[in-house]
Amino acid sequence: MAGIWIFAEKREQALELLNIGRRLAAKTGTAVSALLPGNPDAARDYIAHGADEVLLLPPLAADQSCEAYLPVIVEEAKTADPDVFLCAATPRGKELAARIAARLETGLCSSCIALNYDEGGKNLEMERIAYGGAAIQKVTCLTRPVMATIPPRTFEPVTAEAGREGHIRKLPAPPPSRVRVLERKVRTRETRDITEAKVVIAVGRGFEKPEDLALARQLADALGGEIGCTRPISEENHWLPQELCIGLSGIQIKPDLYLGLGVSGQIQHVTGIRNAKVIAAVNKDENAPIFGVADFGIVGDLYDAAPKLLQELKRGS
Ligand SMILES: Cc1cc2nc3c(=O)[nH]c(=O)nc-3n(C[C@H](O)[C@H](O)[C@H](O)COP(=O)(O)OP(=O)(O)OC[C@H]3O[C@@H](n4cnc5c(N)ncnc54)[C@H](O)[C@@H]3O)c2cc1C
Repeated sequence: MAGIWIFAEKREQALELLNIGRRLAAKTGTAVSALLPGNPDAARDYIAHGADEVLLLPPLAADQSCEAYLPVIVEEAKTADPDVFLCAATPRGKELAARIAARLETGLCSSCIALNYDEGGKNLEMERIAYGGAAIQKVTCLTRPVMATIPPRTFEPVTAEAGREGHIRKLPAPPPSRVRVLERKVRTRETRDITEAKVVIAVGRGFEKPEDLALARQLADALGGEIGCTRPISEENHWLPQELCIGLSGIQIKPDLYLGLGVSGQIQHVTGIRNAKVIAAVNKDENAPIFGVADFGIVGDLYDAAPKLLQELKRGS
């Protein structure tokens, strides 16, 4: 079944890829196949969410890594000959995608943020951020399958459709791998994961001292949100951990509300908030670039505006 293939280790990322996969399949009149690692129970769920076919990858042994799937996926791709192969741009997804592309001798557009067929419906035009966020690069791949890795939260997860039907097919067990996992350690986070937060208060260099971040925390608490930051706050000042840095070299967020306090809004930061539903900012410089992307802005001192916002929120609650 040639068509669109998707691969993600986690369900939420698979649903995002199924969303874009369905859109591309509708344009070309092809089908969507989802590679599902490990969990056969999820196959029906994937079909309800837009997969026409689920290719079940057998569960991995404790000492196997995702890399073990490589020969199985490559062999299946050679036979099935998909037109497009999309992988979630997670650390493992990126590694696997690059190795699959090399073995299939095809091109790979990494960290792709948009995919559209050209007018003739033949070539897939993919977009990715280039030059540190200063430009959008358009990529067309002349070999097949067209491969791309897509950062999590680039697309909305697809919603389920009752009564959808599809095929489920088991792929063979992977041959012995040259890589053996000796130990697994759960990464401990210093903070909560803000990529899922509905409200994010981002702090920038407009803050004078680390103690003042309490103001941002109070605002975040009042709005049921979390705090994030610009790169200088985490990397230069070390006031907040790196995992809270939003932007090109940090995380992409998708909150309902982003409020930047003392954030200038350089492109490398703004890249991480492209998908925020509402962007608001407080900055004392009316020419700050953040106002170019903000839906709401206050030109003023954050030390004056933030306590007032807090007061209003408390009054309203
Ligand atoms: C390759 C590369 C990757 C990068 N990746 C990232 C990234 O992932 N994330 C990121 O954030 N940055 C990143 N950067 C850095 C980025 O270019 C900016 O330097 C950074 O985002 C600026 O942070 P800032 O807004 O906190 O500071 P500044 O640019 O210094 O802005 C501070 C703002 O605060 C305002 N201000 C000052 N005092 C007050 C006050 N009292 N009240 C209100 N406003 C006030 C000022 O008017 C100013 O606009 C990257 C840079 C490069 C080259």
